[in-house]
Amino acid sequence: MSLERFRRLDAGDPLAELRKRFDLPQDKVYLDGNSLGALPKSVHERIERLVRQEWGRDLISSWNKHSWIDLPAKVGEKIAVLVGAAPGQVICADSISVNLFKLLSTALALRPERKVILSQQDNFPTDLYMGQGLAGLLGPDRCQLQTVAHGELLSSLDKNVAVLMLTQVNFRDGRLHNMAAITKAAQSRGALVLWDLAHSAGVVPVELDAWNVDMAVGCGYKFLNGGPGAPAFLYLARRHQDKVGQPLSGWMGHRNAFEFEPAYEPAEGMQRYLAGTPGILSMAALDAALDVFEGISLEAIRKKSLTLGQCFIDEILARNLPGIRLLTPRRGEHRGSQVSLSHPQAFAISQVLIERGIVVDFRAPNIIRFGFSPLYNCFEDAGRALDALAETLISGDYLDSRYAAKGKVT
Ligand SMILES: *Cc1c(COP(=O)(O)O)cnc(C)c1O
Repeated sequence: MSLERFRRLDAGDPLAELRKRFDLPQDKVYLDGNSLGALPKSVHERIERLVRQEWGRDLISSWNKHSWIDLPAKVGEKIAVLVGAAPGQVICADSISVNLFKLLSTALALRPERKVILSQQDNFPTDLYMGQGLAGLLGPDRCQLQTVAHGELLSSLDKNVAVLMLTQVNFRDGRLHNMAAITKAAQSRGALVLWDLAHSAGVVPVELDAWNVDMAVGCGYKFLNGGPGAPAFLYLARRHQDKVGQPLSGWMGHRNAFEFEPAYEPAEGMQRYLAGTPGILSMAALDAALDVFEGISLEAIRKKSLTLGQCFIDEILARNLPGIRLLTPRRGEHRGSQVSLSHPQAFAISQVLIERGIVVDFRAPNIIRFGFSPLYNCFEDAGRALDALAETLISGDYLDSRYAAKGKVT
């Protein structure tokens, strides 16, 4: 398919105008929104006002005057709309890692007669690491992390499993779990489910309430475009709230933080999942970034995401590029919004692409990821990435040793 045909698809795209809501560099094709979302223009104005007026002039009075203290709940509710959660079940706080710790602890407390956290071997490492940390802290009589292959998840759900912890869209190959079906299967065996929505929130329609999900966490800086290190969010179904606590019992989760009582008493609802003072600059940026979603349905976003991915995949298969293998499932219902390719020289190829203005990323040992963020990526982006990839492979430029040096972040 020629670049011209990709441009024609842009002409028929009902979401094409949304790109104007983002501040994108002119000379780049940005396909890494699954790792760090692009900058929404609404963030500029918000941060400028926050720094100049709220922090600079109003100083500490802003906690009340500009409702800084309510931001975790306010931002949580904006995210709730995107993940199918009724009010009072989502709060914005900390990182996914920290929120996993809180919710895994809650899950074990809700299932005191069970001790296993069941997860997938190739889940995102931080999810596994946090499970390992909690198991180390509580000891094997109270908590064990068990990891199995994708195909063994359901058969491993025995009466010891307190919680099944999964990521809906796998960060390596982009494979999508059937969240509704797995949730039902796990619950029928008495386990709770905790879903990591890092690669779903804002790009895949999720119905946490309708699918009876117990718990979820998600990322503020990927498809929600909240900026580097933006706070994450957590969801706990109302039926589980107020029954147990969580061990990071900081003052922001206290029933009455400003009474400064010596004894901890958890606040009701999601508030008790806060620990310390929220980073207001980051949270305000995420708050402003979420306004981009106003008036747009997740179904429309998903439709464009699937079409972008399909055009890219079809063309990859048609061009039959040397050494390239498609890792992401071809069928839309089985994938999120990224397409992963493998190649023995994946790292060097990703570096050549980045140098040519096609921003992708690399995941060890041999994966190149192309993340499609339908709010700002156009079909021409996909076409340009394909042409650049083909040129890179044919020219052999990636064999130059200067493309072998890895930075701290890949
Ligand atoms: C990006 C990502 C995270 C990030 O965790 P943080 O603690 O917020 O840095 C966690 N889980 C998954 C699946 C991710 O893709």
